[in-house]
Amino acid sequence: MRRRTFLAQTAGTLATTWTAAAVASAEPTIADTPTLSPGSSRQVVVLGAGLAGLAAAYELKKAGYAVTVVEARTRPGGRVLTWRDPFADGLYAEMGAEYVDATDEYDHRFCRELGLKVMTAKLYDAIFVRGQRFKMASFKRNKEKLPYAGTEGGRLFGQEAAYIKRLLALITDPERLPPEILKLDNLSVVELLLQEGAPEDIAALFTYTQATESTARPHEMSALHLVRSHRRSFSEDTDEGRILGGNDQLPKGLARALSGEILYDRPARKIVHDRDGATVSFEEGAALRTLRTPRLVVAIPFKVLRDIEVTPSFSPAKTKCIATLAYGHVMKLAMQYQRRFWDEPASLGQRVFTDTMLRRVYHFSIDQPGPRGILMSFTSGADAEALGRMSEAERLRTALQEATRIWPEAPRHFEGGAVKYWNEDPWIRGSYSFEGVGQARDYLQIAAAPEGRVHFAGEHTSVHRASMNGALESGVRVAAEVQKAEGA
Ligand SMILES: Cc1cc2nc3c(=O)[nH]c(=O)nc-3n(C[C@H](O)[C@H](O)[C@H](O)COP(=O)(O)OP(=O)(O)OC[C@H]3O[C@@H](n4cnc5c(N)ncnc54)[C@H](O)[C@@H]3O)c2cc1C
Repeated sequence: MRRRTFLAQTAGTLATTWTAAAVASAEPTIADTPTLSPGSSRQVVVLGAGLAGLAAAYELKKAGYAVTVVEARTRPGGRVLTWRDPFADGLYAEMGAEYVDATDEYDHRFCRELGLKVMTAKLYDAIFVRGQRFKMASFKRNKEKLPYAGTEGGRLFGQEAAYIKRLLALITDPERLPPEILKLDNLSVVELLLQEGAPEDIAALFTYTQATESTARPHEMSALHLVRSHRRSFSEDTDEGRILGGNDQLPKGLARALSGEILYDRPARKIVHDRDGATVSFEEGAALRTLRTPRLVVAIPFKVLRDIEVTPSFSPAKTKCIATLAYGHVMKLAMQYQRRFWDEPASLGQRVFTDTMLRRVYHFSIDQPGPRGILMSFTSGADAEALGRMSEAERLRTALQEATRIWPEAPRHFEGGAVKYWNEDPWIRGSYSFEGVGQARDYLQIAAAPEGRVHFAGEHTSVHRASMNGALESGVRVAAEVQKAEGA
């Protein structure tokens, strides 16, 4: 196979010498790949233009580093995905990350930096479980009981707390957990709840509360995670916001500042690393090209990284973490309706907590004028997986049937919709990371730790995992880590 070598200049900052070879042929060796601008170590290659990779590159560029971002897709943002085209009247929908909580400091910091406004979303105003309907206001006021054994009246999220009180009381310092708490990592949430005397219904309800947010099933989730994070877990009162006009403005804003430094449509296939740096091989059309760098930031999900060849292998702990870190199932269904019947007095509500396949279903288009509107479903775990086995038309048909159980008038106004099932997206193949059984003790530290000159970012490396905030935090953290390692 004839090889060609050429020089690429990205935004006038980084001169990189690449080699190319046909993908199907023998891959280029390190010897084929001259080092970037010999003598300079203020250069970094970042894999992935999701929020983590973008934040890392943005911060490093500000610090005077020459950066190159290698991204598999033709757009920035990864799991931040705002769709506009499928809908009428200028409506849009967040098909990936949606909520920005008041406490998400990195989201707010970058939004301020890019001049983006965060709007407040509406809270749950209704519950539809086991075929029963509750208006949230009277549910709370009259302490109505959910049709689940062992629950406390007037409360939706956090019902499991009553059964783990004994363990919560053992945590006096969240940074120094006692051995009795640490060993809970060997148990699943279901095992712990049953062991502590909770009725099976409490575990069943947990499926629709915390487990739905995690996109996991309760029997896969570490009991240590539940006990450790209980105080700051999501509830029906969590104040959630969104970026006004669409969350995609955040990654797009960062990407615009890095425009010349991002190589799109270049899936990375191989990483070779040594004491002086790393060489990344990535597809470019039918060719496989390599890029040598003194420092590499890997900001792609472990679910994808596990299929990338790494030579020599990372440490055994990192290799195991990459191979086994738990990811869930998640789907978003955006249904367009000709009229916003959910705002009318006879309707159950506009944001409904439900144990139907829709799980969370709510009026999305609150920042846009009617009469049309979008009802969004965020569904996960077994329901997302079951819907994922259907064709797109069946998914929407099922979504409408489920919506009709909550709002009988739904079919009269339904016009169509759009679906994104993240488990079939080749660049994530899942939702986001969660702490599986045996993964809540040390996986986070292992995931975030550098391996020589290879550094790691991504929501899965952050204490604020599974969020945009966590992805951004990890990018800022890794940028500081690189600078520290370079003695800056
Ligand atoms: C349905 C859904 C709902 C969510 N809801 C919320 C929410 O309400 N609020 C919230 O804060 N967060 C939410 N999240 C989580 C949030 O989207 C993620 O935590 C965050 O966006 C992850 O950013 P990241 O940069 O770590 O990863 P990603 O966004 O996945 O970015 C990784 C990038 O790497 C690229 N890549 C992958 N493989 C390769 C390869 N081989 N070569 C080169 N590039 C590659 C990908 O294309 C991608 O662009 C949600 C996520 C989903 C899926």
